[in-house]
Amino acid sequence: MDPNLREAISAEIGWACRILLVTHVGPDGDAIGSLLGLGSLLRARGKEVTLACEDPVPESYRFLPGSDQVVQEASGSYDLVIGLDCSDRQRMGDVVSENLAALPLVNIDHHVTNGRFGTINWVDASAVATAQMVLTLAEELGWPVTRQVAICLLNGLVTDTRSFRTSNVDMAAMRAVLRLIEAGASLPEIARQALEQRPLASVRLWADAVDRLRLEDGILWTSVTLAMRQRWGMDENDFSGLANSLSGIREARAVVVFTERDNGLIDVSMRAAPGLNVAQAAVRLGGGGHPQAAGCTLEGDLPQVQERVLAEVGQSLSEQRAGAG
Ligand code: 5GP
Ligand code: MN
Repeated sequence: MDPNLREAISAEIGWACRILLVTHVGPDGDAIGSLLGLGSLLRARGKEVTLACEDPVPESYRFLPGSDQVVQEASGSYDLVIGLDCSDRQRMGDVVSENLAALPLVNIDHHVTNGRFGTINWVDASAVATAQMVLTLAEELGWPVTRQVAICLLNGLVTDTRSFRTSNVDMAAMRAVLRLIEAGASLPEIARQALEQRPLASVRLWADAVDRLRLEDGILWTSVTLAMRQRWGMDENDFSGLANSLSGIREARAVVVFTERDNGLIDVSMRAAPGLNVAQAAVRLGGGGHPQAAGCTLEGDLPQVQERVLAEVGQSLSEQRAGAG
């Protein structure tokens, strides 16, 4: 890690007493893992820490130590805000209200699309997870990594890499895994809890969504409507993983899953086949992500959003083909 950044972050944390840690709306395993991991590290330094996320912790990550301490609103007063795994300010949601806007904001993230919205921005797109960056910070600052911290951070690495199967997995990621296992985290247990276990209702809902799959110009896409979720009683925050499961389908150059959220917004989840990039289309639609896995959140009714997104993804993929040829 850049020594100047390390010193700057260390200084901000050094003087702050009350620290607000925020992760992104619709949190995934890296969001919750890096939030809980850094929270626990900072508490061990004597800091008063609030862990916040606008949406509740998904069922899959409630096994993580400290997951019951995450709040959905932050009303106290703070000296410092740290954003984790948030590629832009909107991803922090309404947790960071207007009256916190004047506070120093440390932005720690691994998305290549990060908008550098903090007063200090530590963005490392070579890290497979924000949790990997939190481990780097702890090690560089000489903070002991307890078993509890290791479990949370390993959860971030396991989920963002789908158990080390994504194309960005490298030696640095695997070395981080070894250190987290040495610190007491169990890789099989985390993989089972975070990736394997799911309610039957989610598979029933997948079946409905698979029924509606369409393959058009190499884009494999489907939708999960409010009515479909209600039919199986699936909460929006507990329903995930469908885009990942579809991403290996040979005929697909890209996968897009549209999910109607309770608030009327439409969550768009995109995946690209190796060598292709969906982050470009996501950014054009106001979202972000990684080359192989990206997303955005849009207003509008489902058919409108589908048309707009599929056109943008199609356009972006054909530009990439033209560029490559
Ligand atoms: P997923 O499809 O698993 O929800 O998200 C894939 C990737 O895209 C993640 O890195 C996630 O942070 C990013 N992403 C998903 N939705 C949005 C969004 O609405 N805005 C931004 N900026 N990034 C998103
Ligand atoms: Mn992440």
